[in-house]
Amino acid sequence: MPTERASFADRRARAAAKLRERSIAALLVTPGADLLYLTGYQMFPTERLTCLVVARDGAATLVCPELEAPRAAHAAPDLGRVTWGETDDPFSVVATLVRGDGAIALADQMWAAFVLRLEAALPNREFRVASELTRELRMRKDASEREALRLASESADRAYVRVLDEPFAGRAEREIGEALAHALRDEGHDEVGFTIVASGPNGASPHHETGDRRIAPGDTVVLDFGGAMDGYRSDISRTVHVGRDVDLEQRRVHEVVRRAQQAGYAAAKEGATAESVDAASRAVIEEAGYGKFFIHRTGHGIGLDGHEHPYLVRGNRERLEPGMAFSIEPGVYLPGRFGVRIEDVAIIDDDGSVRPLNRADHAFAVVG
Ligand code: ZN
Ligand code: ZN
Ligand code: ZN
Repeated sequence: MPTERASFADRRARAAAKLRERSIAALLVTPGADLLYLTGYQMFPTERLTCLVVARDGAATLVCPELEAPRAAHAAPDLGRVTWGETDDPFSVVATLVRGDGAIALADQMWAAFVLRLEAALPNREFRVASELTRELRMRKDASEREALRLASESADRAYVRVLDEPFAGRAEREIGEALAHALRDEGHDEVGFTIVASGPNGASPHHETGDRRIAPGDTVVLDFGGAMDGYRSDISRTVHVGRDVDLEQRRVHEVVRRAQQAGYAAAKEGATAESVDAASRAVIEEAGYGKFFIHRTGHGIGLDGHEHPYLVRGNRERLEPGMAFSIEPGVYLPGRFGVRIEDVAIIDDDGSVRPLNRADHAFAVVG
């Protein structure tokens, strides 16, 4: 279910309402997730300025290089457009579209090279980050976004099942990573974002760089991978064991992490704070004596960005609401030995309960 053109216009109208609420003159958005969210235009970042200007009155204009105009027109036909040629100054074009006074909100991930030029073209303004406005909108996923996230997660689930078919022993991490990437594409992903394959002691590094280590019987292997389908991201982790000879502590740690994830699910519901989900997962790991080995937050929001609001971390008292999608991914990392992480993407439904979008088996799978 692709997002309807009308909903992009509706999102821009809601962004404009936030500008009025906060007396911000305009929202300036360069290529990235906010641009995709507000217009449907997926554009790679480049040194030629593409910038959506949303004015307080709701007018939305895309300032774009002449050579990108055909793509932009195709992707977002309902948007007003001002094109600039190779020798024009696009920053002054943007400045002329900003009417009225007040602060300017800039896309969080706008390149510094653009920020500095815009600051010069719009003197005596206060500059703010766009997420002050857009996070409120993007955190609450609409029906088409929920569906897109569900499809991306299910595709990642199928990719996981496929890699379990082939033995791991004797292969390099990199080969398993390539198999995962291949499986993600075969199962419908149009972009592979990352494939972490962290075997044996490498599993103790949560974001291990998949490398040349040969996987051997007795290894625990953390698989964490994802990408995008129709712009929406997937992100799943499962931990598997190579061979049937699982030692007691490997089994115990896996069980603890699994219970920690279940405790996270039990805590996640409408009205619960983001930090309470983290606390619930963490308590299980702490009680089992592994607290100091759980070295990251329990989860992050997910949508058009792989990591976005809300973050499930101590100190975040934001309350969960229907439409919020986030990972629940406790882990235990034993330096020099092994690691275990189990991660699903989950969403708060309209009835206020949490629903997993990843349904791949959570058990400690034994692979060859
Ligand atoms: Zn991570
Ligand atoms: Zn992950
Ligand atoms: Zn994650």
